[in-house]
Amino acid sequence: MMEIDGSQGEGGGQILRTALSLAAITGQPLRLTRIRGRRPKPGLQRQHLAAVQAVAQICAAEVDGDELGSGALYFRPQAAISGDYSIDIGSAGSATLVLQTLLPILARGGGPSTLHIRGGTHNPLAPSADFIQRSWLPLLKRCGWQIDVTCQRRGFSPVGLGELQASIAPLQACIPLELVERGKFLARDAEVLLANLPAHIAQREAATLKHALHWSDHEIRQSSVDASGPGNCIQAQLDFAQVTVLCSAIGSTGKRAEAVANECARTVKRYLASDAPVCEYLADQLLLPLALGAGGRIRCRSISEHCRSNAAVINQFLGPVVELGEDGWIQVEAWRG
Ligand code: ATP
Repeated sequence: MMEIDGSQGEGGGQILRTALSLAAITGQPLRLTRIRGRRPKPGLQRQHLAAVQAVAQICAAEVDGDELGSGALYFRPQAAISGDYSIDIGSAGSATLVLQTLLPILARGGGPSTLHIRGGTHNPLAPSADFIQRSWLPLLKRCGWQIDVTCQRRGFSPVGLGELQASIAPLQACIPLELVERGKFLARDAEVLLANLPAHIAQREAATLKHALHWSDHEIRQSSVDASGPGNCIQAQLDFAQVTVLCSAIGSTGKRAEAVANECARTVKRYLASDAPVCEYLADQLLLPLALGAGGRIRCRSISEHCRSNAAVINQFLGPVVELGEDGWIQVEAWRG
């Protein structure tokens, strides 16, 4: 029985999600306590509960504590079954985080799978669907993962109702990821997404971003997008030969357009202020795929608390496969399970 303290380190939902993926992959029963213990509203929220229920469905698990607000979970999985799964988070909770929980399980299944997830696709404090498609997934594909993700409809808080579709082939030969330099700078651009909101919001964001970053007009697009409710997001993309990074900021009620644009600009500047290829978000999101694939060596500007907590959970399950070194260097050994 794997006993995990959900309040360790960063103490958020990622500890739960990584533990669920690894319980399903290793077949080990899991007891998780103090779930999201460091969050103001601890326990399972809709997104986390949807992840628990989806993993339970995929591996016919025996579960106790799978209720909204629950602070403890018992989870006894059986072998994962490849197939076609449809998950409705039932709120604007992040569909991408549920997706990241399920992809490694299904990729290690015996046959092809598809996933359809309904929820938020562009949420604060979570990877956007575009981040998954343009930044995270290309690195997994470089290592041999055969996964395709499409965003059929964007979902913003509070309405949600975005739709993600994924097709997953079984993981076969993998190659290690060596991502320690960015390589040549290739291109940059930013997109201001606006759904069901007045056009002046996008215009003010584009103007503020242009001023803050000193980018030209043709590098900043304004796009009106289809969604079930209001939504606003800015995504600035930086393409280098070895990596694509997506820096984003999400608009919300009461947050001024200028503040959204300046937040996005700060993230871009922070990334460009160092020469490390891996942004703070990619770092923690690459650990599990690398450990389950052929390992790798990556370099980020600094190691986040999310990254430390995720490494701790992975090492608790798989043995010491993730090594967090000095100056943002990370070495991941392939798990020989
Ligand atoms: P919580 O428990 O905090 O309510 P949660 O379950 O949504 O939250 P966390 O444990 O905080 O999740 O994990 C959030 C994940 O989202 C991390 O992997 C982090 O790297 C990622 N993330 C956060 N912000 C961004 C961003 N702007 N771009 C890409 N990824 C992000």
